[in-house]
Amino acid sequence: MDALEIMTNLHLVVPYYQAVFSADEHKVIGYEVLGRYQTDDEVISLGAFFSDDSIPDEYRIEVDNLIVEKAITALIDTEEDVYLFINKNANLLMTDSDETFLNMLLSFQAQGVSLNKIVLEVTEHQYTGDIDQLYHLLTYYRTYGLKIAVDNIGKESSNLDRIGLLTPDILKVDLQALRKTSTSQSYFDVLYTISLLARKIGATLLYEDIETLFQLQFAWSNGGRYYQGYYLHQPCEKFVSADFQKGRLKQEIHQFTQQEKKKIQSRYILSDLLQNEVSLSLGRHKNLMNYNELITELALDLKDKTFRIYICDEDGFQQSANYFKHHNLWTLQREYENKNWSWRPYFLENIMRMKRNKKGILSDLYSDIETGEMIRTFSYPLTVDHYLFVDIPYQYLYENEGLL
Ligand code: CA
Repeated sequence: MDALEIMTNLHLVVPYYQAVFSADEHKVIGYEVLGRYQTDDEVISLGAFFSDDSIPDEYRIEVDNLIVEKAITALIDTEEDVYLFINKNANLLMTDSDETFLNMLLSFQAQGVSLNKIVLEVTEHQYTGDIDQLYHLLTYYRTYGLKIAVDNIGKESSNLDRIGLLTPDILKVDLQALRKTSTSQSYFDVLYTISLLARKIGATLLYEDIETLFQLQFAWSNGGRYYQGYYLHQPCEKFVSADFQKGRLKQEIHQFTQQEKKKIQSRYILSDLLQNEVSLSLGRHKNLMNYNELITELALDLKDKTFRIYICDEDGFQQSANYFKHHNLWTLQREYENKNWSWRPYFLENIMRMKRNKKGILSDLYSDIETGEMIRTFSYPLTVDHYLFVDIPYQYLYENEGLL
């Protein structure tokens, strides 16, 4: 659409609102403000207008400010206590040198609008300037109470260290890629890393572009406190009631909770089963003093529950070979004797836990360095300072419900 047509018909420029829901109260906590051009016959998104660098900055800033002005005016009129999420092109924000945007916000503040209800959404990977300058500008906005969200994470190459540097209040993560029939493991890994980052920097996770129940479940089970997407609400020209989806969200989250509890239960059952089988097997072979003979017998007894088994001391030095199954053939890999595994994540933590509780532990799901398969490990206190490690193959986890 022609930029001049928009500029001569500014009365047709309107804000649309897409609700953001919270997991803790199951209600609408705010709205993302979206620019629309509304004629008699159609409603057109202004997304392309705002991202078109060939359109003069002052045009885009004017239209942008107009939308925000209309949205905040609507916020004043509503009784609801909600956040307004406002998209801000970081490049334009930096060029808006006479602070027209901030001045507008301050005039609203004078009318009683609390600026800590305004969330600025900026996209890190679209920003072309110096990240420190952007950080300083955002920090300046923060002194007025505004909140900062980093938008569009996961969509394009997002720079996690740059995002961390901006110390946003909210990370907006796009779940669009989850709709594809086959989502790559690396995408899940990136989302997991983002959730760790959010936890580290104390940012709230908002998952957006949720269009299916599956995506909502993913968002819920991956630390998402806020949700947004067509599945819950389509952008429209008015605010909705805060309890708009309350019953449905409550019921769906209840389902997720039941499923997750069942999965956790399955892991405890497997852990107890292995605890029992390993101790029975050890009882049968207590005459075996040689560790390599012992793990060979243990592997036989555990059957399809393991593809690799070995023993370490409490400092991580391997006290046996690896007994390893590949293509249904078991081999004793003596080159692993005396290797040290204390550097591995959770290794010492788990050793100390077993020492304290005198009980085995089932690990989380992780990718095995050698086979690349998603596996779990059951570790077990063998003596006061020696520990048995039983690697459980993907196949077994896959065939038994709730273990993946
Ligand atoms: Ca946005």
